[in-house]
Amino acid sequence: MDKITIIVPCYNEEEVIEMFYPAVQAHVKKIPDCKFDFIFVNDGSRDGTLDKLRELSAAHDDVSYISLSRNFGKESAMMAGIDFAEGDAVIIMDADLQHPPESLAEMIKYWREGYDDVCGKRVDRAGETWLKRSCANIFYAVMKKFSTSYEMQRDVGDFRLLDRRCIEALKLMRENQRFTKGLFTWVGYRKKEIPFEVQPRAAGTTTWNYFALFNLAMKGMTSFTTAPLRLMTFLGITISFAAMCYMIFVLTMALLYGDPVAGYPTLMTVMLFLGGIQILSLGIIGEYIGQIFHETKHRPIYLVDEIDGKRMIYKPQFVPTERNTKPK
Ligand code: UDP
Ligand code: MG
Repeated sequence: MDKITIIVPCYNEEEVIEMFYPAVQAHVKKIPDCKFDFIFVNDGSRDGTLDKLRELSAAHDDVSYISLSRNFGKESAMMAGIDFAEGDAVIIMDADLQHPPESLAEMIKYWREGYDDVCGKRVDRAGETWLKRSCANIFYAVMKKFSTSYEMQRDVGDFRLLDRRCIEALKLMRENQRFTKGLFTWVGYRKKEIPFEVQPRAAGTTTWNYFALFNLAMKGMTSFTTAPLRLMTFLGITISFAAMCYMIFVLTMALLYGDPVAGYPTLMTVMLFLGGIQILSLGIIGEYIGQIFHETKHRPIYLVDEIDGKRMIYKPQFVPTERNTKPK
């Protein structure tokens, strides 16, 4: 009998939680030799999500919930779920039913064939705006060019099944600025992508916007490659070289031909261009310093307020062990 934990991060999802559980149960019931349990992570919701979760866990033995002390973001919420999951494998799903429960059977099939990380690959980004698609394209292109150690999976999100081996590896990485998608790729092991169509949200509203997406992209970039820093070095070298050539040209013109070189427009252009490059470089360096700033504080990734009605106090290391060592 395989034991699989389904982790569901929830932020303001009161409208969908009641739909989610039966919808997923209907599919997992049919999967043979598998015992499922659910961990809902309430990521500091401001609506009735926590009450809904309390009701759900009271009504069903296979449901437990972890409520975080505030909104920490989906990446941290997923980590909370991963820390507490006890299954031989976990499946991470969005609460809004955008990840089709039909795919679970296929994921488990591949897991049983020996894959450690079975992830859903979205086949159509058609439902998204042109701008969002273009941004995604640019991001993947840049990451592909820059990250040399491994290749970022394309159009693959957080909808995935992870074997215990991957979970234990993920637990080792306690970084604050989490770009989970990159971490999944970083741990390696045997990966399998299965296609799925992103469903429309069952109810409620998405919390994502372009600003959040840009932030995530920056986080992805700065936590997995220092190539932009290298790029700035190259740019500096190139510009200095070009400037030297131009200087020789100007000197020659002035000394040999007494040609007064045109002034204002050239000066202005060069000045503004260089000014722009300098600010950009500073910005990029700043992004990395920001990362260092956040990481050196070693703050916990999340704080737990309550688990299944029990109020929790943070103790270092309680997180991965407390629930796991409870007598079964
Ligand atoms: N989510 C979360 N914390 C947040 C934002 C979102 O746990 O701060 C959860 C949310 O409840 C949902 C999943 O992450 O289960 C995906 O969020 P959403 O549907 O808003 O994003 P989208 O599917 O539009 O990318
Ligand atoms: Mg969604």
